[in-house]
This record gives sequence, C-alpha cells and structure tokens, in this order.
Amino acid sequence: MKALVHTAPLRLEYVERPMPAIGPADVLVRVAAVAICGSDVHGYTGSTGRRIPPIVMGHEASGVVEAAGPQVAGWQAGDRVTFDSTIYCNECPECRHGRVNLCENRQILGVSTPLFRRDGAMAEFVAMPNWILHRLPDALSFEEAALVEPAAVAMHAARITPIEPGAVVVVVGAGAIGLLALQAARIRGAGTVVIMDVREERLALARQLGADVEVNSEAADPREALRSATGKATADVVLEAVGIGKTVQLATELTAPGGNLTLIGNVQPSIEQNLQTIVSKELTIRGSAASAGEYPMCLALMADGRLRTRPLISRTMPLSDGQAAFDALHGAKTGLIKIVLRPGGRAPSTEATHA
Ligand SMILES: [Zn+2]
Ligand SMILES: [Zn+2]
Repeated sequence: MKALVHTAPLRLEYVERPMPAIGPADVLVRVAAVAICGSDVHGYTGSTGRRIPPIVMGHEASGVVEAAGPQVAGWQAGDRVTFDSTIYCNECPECRHGRVNLCENRQILGVSTPLFRRDGAMAEFVAMPNWILHRLPDALSFEEAALVEPAAVAMHAARITPIEPGAVVVVVGAGAIGLLALQAARIRGAGTVVIMDVREERLALARQLGADVEVNSEAADPREALRSATGKATADVVLEAVGIGKTVQLATELTAPGGNLTLIGNVQPSIEQNLQTIVSKELTIRGSAASAGEYPMCLALMADGRLRTRPLISRTMPLSDGQAAFDALHGAKTGLIKIVLRPGGRAPSTEATHA
C-alpha cells in the first residue's frame, strides 16, 4: 500500500509500505479521508518528541472496513466507519470506569514516543482494535466525519466543565478546536459565547459558526471588550484552546472569581503563570484530554447539522501531496484551518453524496 511516512524533521515521503497486519480482534480500514491535526504539524517539525520518525501520522480519519479478524463481531467489509484516536485497552481500571482517554495502556494512532509507536491513517490502510470503531451516519461525508475526532475533543472539554444554562462562555483561540468548542459550549447550554483570537479570518469563521462576540485580543483590550459585550470583564467559564503561556494567562485573567477554566490547548510543555490571579480568585482549573465517550453524540449532532465541521475544511488534497499540505500549514500565514488528505485521490464507492 501507499503511505505518507514522516522520515525526518520537516520531511514526509509518499512511499510503498507493507499492509498493516491485523490481530484476531482487529479491523483493517481502507482510509477515505484523513485530516491533519495541529499536533501533527508541531510533531513533524521534531519539536514535540511525539512523532519520532519513521511514523505514519494521522488520527482524525474515516473510511470503509476492508477486513476483520476472526474474533470481530458486528463489523463487515464495506461498513462506513470512523475511529477513536486513543487506542485504549478496555481492561484497566480507568477503562472500566469509562475514562478511556486516561487508559493506563493507551496508545495514540499516528503517534510515536519513546514508549510506543503506532502507525496512523495517513496511508491507504490502517489497523486497529474493533472496539474503537464507530459507524458513520449515512448523512455524513467521509471528509466531515474525519473531523469527528477534534469535535469529540471539544465536546469532552465542554462536558467536563460546569456550564450553567445561559452562561457566558469565553473561548480563547479560534483554531479548529476553538471553533468546535464554541459550538460544543452552545450545545451544552451556553447563552453567550465570546471567542478571542488574533486572526481576523478565524474570527469571521467563528461568527459563521455561531459565536455571539468575536474579539481580536491584539487589537482590543480583551477585558474591556468582554465588559462591553456582556456587562462584566470576566466570565464564569473559559475554555482555552491554544496552549501557550500568553493565552493561558489571558484565560486566567478572564475567568471570574470562583469560575471554571478548562485547558484544552497543549503546545508549550511548560508555562509561567501568575499564581496570585489563580489563588486569589479561587479558580478551578482543569485539563481536558482527548475524549471519552463523546463520539456517538458528536456523530449524531454532525449528521443533523447542529455541530458543523465542513466550514473548517480549508482544502482537500491527495495524500501524495502530503508534504505540500504540511508545509502550507507550517507556513501558517495562509489562513488555513484544516487540510483533509485523500488516499488514492478518489472517493470509495460508498461515499455519501451529502455535502
Ligand atoms: Zn488531533
Ligand atoms: Zn485501559
């Protein structure tokens, strides 16, 4: 099969690779669409240590079941599917409590660290245990469905954060996760959603996706902008979807006394924070990692149009153009949100017609 292999910092090669082996409980999926994640772009520079070459990246994908091992029940060749990015064991205490994102034995598709290496979906085929698969609603195209993974990440953050009906929610960062978090916060009952970013084209997209207020946090004082929009300079709930020191600091400043701040972004490994802001306002700060059970609800919400991923797709390219796609995202002055890669460059015959 053909695969896009990350072979060295900033380098990808589209080459022939052996087909993935499948174990008795595994399913082999023919990949139809795979989205490039921000973590893939950071990873391919070599800066994060989580894409140690050689590795086939790709954890946001959809496709069609090609074959299944002898222990697999309920999945057949031709089924349209997507899958969790976390390969959890289903046996450890965390898994048994439903916290599969925190599985003691977890691996992530398309990620390689000193501890594990797991080839992902930037290839014609990818293999995985059957229990991480999810069936696609007929109404969802493969491209939209590839983005259920970041949608589930955003929904998980909104679910573990106490959001009172009608609450003011600030989302810091209007990248893919922020744009999905704003929709998730709305679905969870937020009354006013304020989104902040430094890029106007992203703020315009946020408006299209239902934000009530967009703030360019470089052009305006964020606290004053929040005050003039909502009457208060802080919000009970803040979702941080960037993950660098500066934006986490902004997020703590914008969280109301006694409020809740959830950190989703994770770019800079360590950051400096103003301890007094956190302690004196008695903030509750929590991390949110991947997702744990949000795929089915996100797929249903996406199928009925309440959670939209299509507007995030800036471009679709053949997998063979992977190097150019990564370079464009790494260049980052291009206003791109998501690029979806298509192995084989054509749609499998079971492609949904819905746009
Ligand atoms: Zn991702
Ligand atoms: Zn486990």
